[in-house]
Amino acid sequence: MPLTIAHPARLRRNQSAVAEDLTQQASCAREPGGRILIVGAGLCGLACADELLRLDHSDWLLLEASATAGGLASSVTDSAGFTWDLGGHVVFSHFGEFDRLLSELFRDGELLRHDRSSFIRFRDRWVPYPFQQHVHCLPAEDATACLDGLVLAQRQGGVVGAADFGTWLQATYGPALVERFFGPYNAKVWATAPELMSSSWVAERVAPVDFDQILTAPTAPTARRAGRWGPNATFAFPISGGTGEISRRLATRLGPRVRTRARVVAVDAAVREVVLAGGERIAYDHLVATGPLDQLAAMTMGVSAGVRAAAGRLRHTTVAMVGLGYQVPTTDVRSWMYFPQPDVPFYRATNFSKYAPANVPGSDTRTFSSWMTETSLPDGAQVDQATLIDSCDRALRRHGLVPAHAPLASAHLEVIPYAYPVPTLDRDTALAEVVPWMEASGIYPRGRFGTWRYEIGNMDHAVKMGIDIARRLVTGTAEELLNTPMVTAAGSRS
Ligand SMILES: Cc1cc2nc3c(=O)[nH]c(=O)nc-3n(C[C@H](O)[C@H](O)[C@H](O)COP(=O)(O)OP(=O)(O)OC[C@H]3O[C@@H](n4cnc5c(N)ncnc54)[C@H](O)[C@@H]3O)c2cc1C
Repeated sequence: MPLTIAHPARLRRNQSAVAEDLTQQASCAREPGGRILIVGAGLCGLACADELLRLDHSDWLLLEASATAGGLASSVTDSAGFTWDLGGHVVFSHFGEFDRLLSELFRDGELLRHDRSSFIRFRDRWVPYPFQQHVHCLPAEDATACLDGLVLAQRQGGVVGAADFGTWLQATYGPALVERFFGPYNAKVWATAPELMSSSWVAERVAPVDFDQILTAPTAPTARRAGRWGPNATFAFPISGGTGEISRRLATRLGPRVRTRARVVAVDAAVREVVLAGGERIAYDHLVATGPLDQLAAMTMGVSAGVRAAAGRLRHTTVAMVGLGYQVPTTDVRSWMYFPQPDVPFYRATNFSKYAPANVPGSDTRTFSSWMTETSLPDGAQVDQATLIDSCDRALRRHGLVPAHAPLASAHLEVIPYAYPVPTLDRDTALAEVVPWMEASGIYPRGRFGTWRYEIGNMDHAVKMGIDIARRLVTGTAEELLNTPMVTAAGSRS
């Protein structure tokens, strides 16, 4: 059995001094156009470059630290022939621009279409997602407690105004649902206490309560029909190459101005130059930076101690993706499963051979199947690889996703150092200190970890942000996504 392992790797300032800095930097602001340097060949950086070409703006260069494009939306094929994503990725879209890009990159039939079929493991059973809409599938005592708590919480009117995520969960769903699902599940995903997180991001990420649906749902607890809520109720997946096929094709069409193995180690904002790991200096008029914002602030010369400290307060999770290939076919037609229980290391398991037969060796799903598991780790935690792989494998078998004696054909570990940007209580205050300073210096942090906003942290958002900033820098048009007020769970706009 091949084992493949890959490791990708306030001080509050005097307000008038900050304002003075920004005024000085703004006076250096440059006209639209000029040399646009993009750091990062994830989907945001690639989409930005692609849009520049569409706008006939040829003075750009894209620098990527890794050997290949794709960033978080990359895929790898291990030595046994199994393809893996960096955690469960599914393609869905809020934006016409992302749809257009996909239709240019993939011919008819090259994107497989799936209906989401997602479940939560609870005690001895599978409960369709969203959990709170399917309390009738729980054991009678749990169902009664959850429904009572839900009714009481809703009668009390939920949350008024801003609240931390923990308070929001209690006020929206009631204590029994929080104790049984939301508390343990979110603690696993975020590796952060919900009380230390804001609730401003939940609109499309946490399903609201729909009493009509709860009360009219079929009562059979073994129902295999999962709920339709949310933007990914149906999704697409490349027929081969994994999710990474999107960026692979996009980078290919962009050509040699996508420079891989080019890590930026310093940004000299005063003279508008970046410094690469080998010492090469490259000038720019505008810098689109799609890597993590805290790293950008740390490597940018001239950043004030206050701005650097604010960036240092941003928090993220690390995820260990353990991919397990088995020499056994699967008859399981479901897409992915959530695991709130503490004795299972991962928070989610994805039925990856179901997404595309090409994810297993020789597309031979009569012989092979594959599962991807995701385990969140606090920033900086060390992974004991063999132990984690073994416990993931045993949990898949214990919960019946894989037959007890199925031969293991491959185990692959990817550690994703920056996986989820955590929406902490002071995230927006920190961003309000860092981002204006950067922009006044001609540096535009964009993408999942450039903006550090989980609520716009998906692939379609990354693509849209890349396209928007290209248009702004070339034509001066305002960015659409960043200027769109977010709908909050309470239905108001922020
Ligand atoms: C576990 C997991 C599951 C997900 N599931 C989904 C999903 O189902 N659907 C969905 O739409 N989205 C999903 N996402 C989100 C999706 O992966 C991201 O939205 C998208 O890939 C972000 O693209 P990006 O370009 O903004 O950032 P990134 O992909 O992070 O790209 C940034 C790039 O910058 C490079 N870089 C960083 N620093 C430097 C430097 N100093 N010099 C040069 N290059 C540098 C990096 O190597 C990287 O390639 C998921 C993410 C994770 C982690």
